[in-house]
Amino acid sequence: MKGTWESIGGKKREYNIEKALDEIEAIVGSNAVIKDRGLLREKSVDFTPIFYYKKVKGYEVPTAEALITPKDAKELSNIVKVANKYGIPIIPLGGGSGVVGGLIPISGGILVSMENFKEIKIDEENMVVVAGAGVTGKSLEEVLNKKGYTVGHYPQSLNESTVGGWIATKSIGQYSTKYGGIEDMVLGVEVVMPNGEIIKTKASPRSSNGPSMKDLFIGSEGTLGLITSASLKMRVLPEHRQMLSYSFKGFNEAIKAAKKMMLQGLNPDVVRVYDKDDAFLWFEGDANEPLMIVILEDYREETLNLKARLVDEIVKEFGGSYVGEKYASLWLKDRFEAKKKAEDYMQMGFLLDTIEVSSFWSSLYDVYSSIKNGLLSIKDGVVLNASAHADHFSLNGACLYFTVGGAPEKGPEAFYEAIWSKAMEACLSFGCSISDHHGIGILRRPWIREELGSSYALLKKLKEALDNRDIMNPGKLV
Ligand SMILES: Cc1cc2nc3c(=O)[nH]c(=O)nc-3n(C[C@H](O)[C@H](O)[C@H](O)COP(=O)(O)OP(=O)(O)OC[C@H]3O[C@@H](n4cnc5c(N)ncnc54)[C@H](O)[C@@H]3O)c2cc1C
Repeated sequence: MKGTWESIGGKKREYNIEKALDEIEAIVGSNAVIKDRGLLREKSVDFTPIFYYKKVKGYEVPTAEALITPKDAKELSNIVKVANKYGIPIIPLGGGSGVVGGLIPISGGILVSMENFKEIKIDEENMVVVAGAGVTGKSLEEVLNKKGYTVGHYPQSLNESTVGGWIATKSIGQYSTKYGGIEDMVLGVEVVMPNGEIIKTKASPRSSNGPSMKDLFIGSEGTLGLITSASLKMRVLPEHRQMLSYSFKGFNEAIKAAKKMMLQGLNPDVVRVYDKDDAFLWFEGDANEPLMIVILEDYREETLNLKARLVDEIVKEFGGSYVGEKYASLWLKDRFEAKKKAEDYMQMGFLLDTIEVSSFWSSLYDVYSSIKNGLLSIKDGVVLNASAHADHFSLNGACLYFTVGGAPEKGPEAFYEAIWSKAMEACLSFGCSISDHHGIGILRRPWIREELGSSYALLKKLKEALDNRDIMNPGKLV
């Protein structure tokens, strides 16, 4: 095994927290500094299943020493200057929906809630919306939808996750085949750097002004600075929709059909391909064959009808059969409800996790089989279910998204170490990318060196150059 969780850093550091908090209280006022242990325990754990499970079951979890809620970038900048002076870790807190441990304060320190950064400014002429880092996807879409607009970024965690969290984790939404990932939507960012300096990258439709500084922060997981706001592309909401569901004899045939749609530039808003077991899992026993769902939206009915006809032709070419709107419409109805389902399973004592990887077409089916069989081969009957779907299709390949569940006979750590090692090693052996969109956090950190190869040293140097006291979310990503 190349990486193990024992290699996760996270030693508690020595620093004068009392003195630092006194200085921070003088900046933000005592009401904006929370030291209550119960509340800190609650806020220190994101939705990373192993930590969430431990929190729910009453195990010890790493807990921050304070939670601070600054009102604006200036206050935040002064807080960061104090943290830098005392060498205290700062962990940015968005919606807390992260699933790879990005939030967990493994080295102690201060959680900084971005909840007051909630300004939304709409520029209708240029189709740009400037949103504060703490704005949740739900509130952003509510404001935009009322005016007939959307950002088009709909992660399954839309209700909880924030603009800052999306950028920090390089997230992707369910309509990615049409609109892309968050990296395709960000025009500019404002960031408080690890030394407290506030920087703003210029927003423009495109720029040829050297390497893109905004891109430094997309996927930086809070390790290079705190994102305070972002300029995002805005789109007009489509008015027409069609929902299509197809069954297939094999998962691979459905993937080939999706590939042809992408290569012909059809880019349906949503295409998801479920293997037999995943269809059974997500449609609650109602479907037991490989399944494809397609959602098409457009501004004009005739364009929509044409696209639907072309999708249908391609599907039939690969042996798919139309089974009505049903599964696509069920998915659309429940698409933001997965968190509740996962919580219910964990309350019942089951452990489950989701692991997503990104593969070129050439290895997609083989890496799918390898990871799935590897997970199912884990001994002692620990893994009860492993299933997958493919989504976020692009010109070059797709995301494979595994759901794995079981009973932690030897404790949660042993279960998680077994499933993550199996999946990451199989993925790397095919040259695939270890994360499509959830990020690295602490769960994937044992494999980041191998993932990045010779570019690992560059990222490490960048981190050291920008944050030489290693205060920004230490022990994560790099
Ligand atoms: C049910 C469920 C469904 C999900 N579906 C998707 C999905 O469809 N697509 C997807 O991509 N992800 C998905 N996720 C994962 C998660 O929602 C995303 O990673 C999301 O982008 C996290 O946003 P957040 O605001 O909750 O961030 P948090 O969990 O608060 O933080 C995540 C990381 O970003 C850092 N961070 C947060 N805000 C800032 C900031 N302002 N500046 C700097 N760093 C910051 C944190 O320190 C942490 O390292 C899902 C999670 C759940 C629980």
